[in-house]
Amino acid sequence: MPELPEIETVRRDLEKSVLGARIVRVKADDPLIMPPSEARRMKRALKGQTIDDLDRCGKVLVISVSGGWSVLQRFGMTGQMYPQPGDEPLPPCTRLVWELEDGRRIVYRDARRFGETRLVKTAELQRALGEDCRLGHDALLSDLSAEEFAALLADHAVPIKNFLLDQTHLAGIGNIYASEILHRCRIHPETPANALLPRQAREVLRVTRTVLAEAVAAQGTTISDYRTGENLSGGYQKFLRVYGREGGKCQRRGCGGEVVRIVQAGRSTFFCAKCQK
Ligand SMILES: [Zn+2]
Repeated sequence: MPELPEIETVRRDLEKSVLGARIVRVKADDPLIMPPSEARRMKRALKGQTIDDLDRCGKVLVISVSGGWSVLQRFGMTGQMYPQPGDEPLPPCTRLVWELEDGRRIVYRDARRFGETRLVKTAELQRALGEDCRLGHDALLSDLSAEEFAALLADHAVPIKNFLLDQTHLAGIGNIYASEILHRCRIHPETPANALLPRQAREVLRVTRTVLAEAVAAQGTTISDYRTGENLSGGYQKFLRVYGREGGKCQRRGCGGEVVRIVQAGRSTFFCAKCQK
C-alpha cells in the first residue's frame, strides 16, 4: 500500500504537472470511493475552479482548489493518480476523473477500492485532518522532538511495530517502512513501545525521518501496484533490507542472521532474528 514516500512522490509529480490547471468537470461515480451525495457536492464545488495547492498529511493527498474547497484523497491499497492526455482511453479501474481545460485529465485508479475521496472546506482542513482523519504528526515534516516522541511511546504498551503503523501518533508509516525502520534501529518489532530506552526512542524518530527521506528521493517503493504521479514505478524496492526478504541473509555487516517473518495485527513483519533483540 502506498505510504508517505509514495504519496509524497505523487504530490510532487502532480505539483509539477497540474498546479494552476483549471477543472472543467469531475466524474466520480464509484460509491465505494465516494458516496453519491458527496460526489454530487464535489462535482458542483470543483467545476470551473483552478488547482491552487497540492499538499500531504501522512498518507493523505490534499488538493486545494480555488473557491475554498479541498479534496482529501486516500489511496488505500492500490490507488494511483496521474494525468493523461484526454484522447487516451481511460485505464482499467478508473474511479475518478478530473477533466482539465487544457484537454488533459487526472485519473484516480484503484483496483481494490480501499481508497477514499472527501471534499472539505479549505478553512476546515486542519480540523478535518486531525479530527475526521485522526492523523497525528506527519512522520517526515513535523517538528516533533525526541522528548515528545518518547512521551508518546511511554503512554503505549503495544508492540513498537503496531505503534508505528498507528496513524494517530506518527502519520505516514505503513507496513513496509515500519519493518525497515526497526531493522536499522536493531529493535525487535514485538518490543512494547513503552519499553524503549530514551536513546532508542531518539533513534527510531531519527531513522524514521532518514528512511522516509531516502524513499522519497528514490520516488517510493513499487512492490505491486504503486505508480508515481507520472505513472512510473518507484525505485526504493531495491534498497529494502528486510521487507519481503524472508529466509534471506541480514544485510547488516557482520551479522549473518536470517530475515524471518511474523504476523502482527494481521500484517506481515520482517526482521532479523539475530540483530534485532
Ligand atoms: Zn541482522
